[in-house]
Amino acid sequence: MAQQEDVFKKLVSHCKEYGFVFPSSEIYDGLAAVYDYGQMGVELKNNLKKYWWDSMTLMHENIVGIDSAIFMHPTIWKASGHVDAFNDPLIDNRDSKKRYRADVLIEEQLAKIEDKIDKEVEKAAKRFGESFDEAKFRATNQRVLEHQKKWNQLHQRYSDAMNAMDLDALKQIILDEGIVCPISGTRNWTDVRQFNLMFSTEMGSTADGAMKIYLRPETAQGIFVNYLNVQKTGRMKIPFGIAQIGKAFRNEIVARQFIFRMREFEQMEMQFFVKPGTELEWFEKWKQTRLKWHKALGLGDHKYRFHDHEKLAHYANAATDIEFLMPFGFKEVEGIHSRTNFDLSNHEKYSGKSIKYFDPETNESYTPYVIETSIGVDRTFLSILAGCYEEETLSNGETRVVLHLPATLAPVKLAVMPLVKKDGLPEKAREIMDDLKFHFKCQYDEKDSIGKRYRRQDAIGTPFCATVDHDTLNDGRVTLRNRDTMQQERIPIDRLKDIIAKEVSMTELLKKQL
Ligand code: ATP
Repeated sequence: MAQQEDVFKKLVSHCKEYGFVFPSSEIYDGLAAVYDYGQMGVELKNNLKKYWWDSMTLMHENIVGIDSAIFMHPTIWKASGHVDAFNDPLIDNRDSKKRYRADVLIEEQLAKIEDKIDKEVEKAAKRFGESFDEAKFRATNQRVLEHQKKWNQLHQRYSDAMNAMDLDALKQIILDEGIVCPISGTRNWTDVRQFNLMFSTEMGSTADGAMKIYLRPETAQGIFVNYLNVQKTGRMKIPFGIAQIGKAFRNEIVARQFIFRMREFEQMEMQFFVKPGTELEWFEKWKQTRLKWHKALGLGDHKYRFHDHEKLAHYANAATDIEFLMPFGFKEVEGIHSRTNFDLSNHEKYSGKSIKYFDPETNESYTPYVIETSIGVDRTFLSILAGCYEEETLSNGETRVVLHLPATLAPVKLAVMPLVKKDGLPEKAREIMDDLKFHFKCQYDEKDSIGKRYRRQDAIGTPFCATVDHDTLNDGRVTLRNRDTMQQERIPIDRLKDIIAKEVSMTELLKKQL
């Protein structure tokens, strides 16, 4: 794990060094949990968003997109439950003055017990070798059973306290478990308090009577309040979906792990409106569809898993997370929720307007049920970088840092390089560049040795480099180098466009999901 954390630190500095992600407001010492995307980051991020957008709106005839405003009528957040219930329980350590989420402290304690069980299993697996029966070992080993019993008891107490939002009970668990602050090492805790995660601001001048409004903590509500506009103007028939990409804001208590948990971030959400009673079938379909979307990126199928929620939000009747194996363990990147008709019926109640769907086939009106797929752009960006970052030792003993990005998502698709800065090679390289730049993102590079230039492109994940040398002027061929295999091939200039266009094609990536 320590080694993994080390890799993660290197990844964070790599992101800064190569223009992917910068700490926001850096010259003013930064702003906690807010980040800016640099010249490479924005390209990767835009490609990622396009992959999602096209997967939703091109591949599904019954899904359309919208772009709703960040500011919305404040009653929307009352209706959605966010004003009253979008809270995290927080606790402070009096000695270190550090603030924590009480639920996270307890979940970490549960994870520690799970680790102990895993270690016992690992040790036994080594001892017994081939003949090891893991299921039997877990069911019978005394030490494992003791840990498991402890885990079950703690988990039960924790679930009860969270379900009842019993803040005193949460604090008591922290005290009983002897959980200490990782900074001060003490148990000098304050009481647990509720903390609402929404940012608020004021709209209008005070003379007019300013209105308190919120920065949206999710994009979904913009879809709910527009669903009938879209349904009517787009003549949509149930089942249908509305997709949206946009910023969301949450005043996270503990913002850690780089762009994993930010205070300003971006979501890609799709709400799929279905007939009541069919929602669980659609939930299953969307689980599979979304998993395929992730796997098509080629980061390794074993790095994904579902984590079904045992404890459901009061409005949901099924929920799961898609988790990715980050350097700091399996973590949620996407949530898939069966949200029933909770949001729509509450908007109906609070707005006083009927937002029922009229089904022309059955002549009945009803409030649709909703399946939501909600994925974080930034978290997915992080998962892709973590999955693609490699410090590779080459056969000649040299090392290189390479990002094995899916070619379609890479910020730069082709680097065009003259071998030397003379003899007409730069002019030829420019000519190639000027032709290809209309088809995909190219970068011209003539500085430093060719080896150094290759390393620079590896570091930003450019899948191809085309080098113009003296022979090019005679035979009309360039050397095309592949980032991953480092193989080089002589290719006629007029074939470059087709070869690269196919490799970086969004269409090809979209088809991998089928
Ligand atoms: P978590 O439990 O990690 O706080 P969540 O369950 O509250 O996440 P959702 O409300 O389901 O998250 O949001 C959907 C997706 O939005 C998440 O899967 C994640 O990818 C992204 N997301 C949520 N909060 C943040 C954040 N603070 N920073 C970056 N991405 C986020």
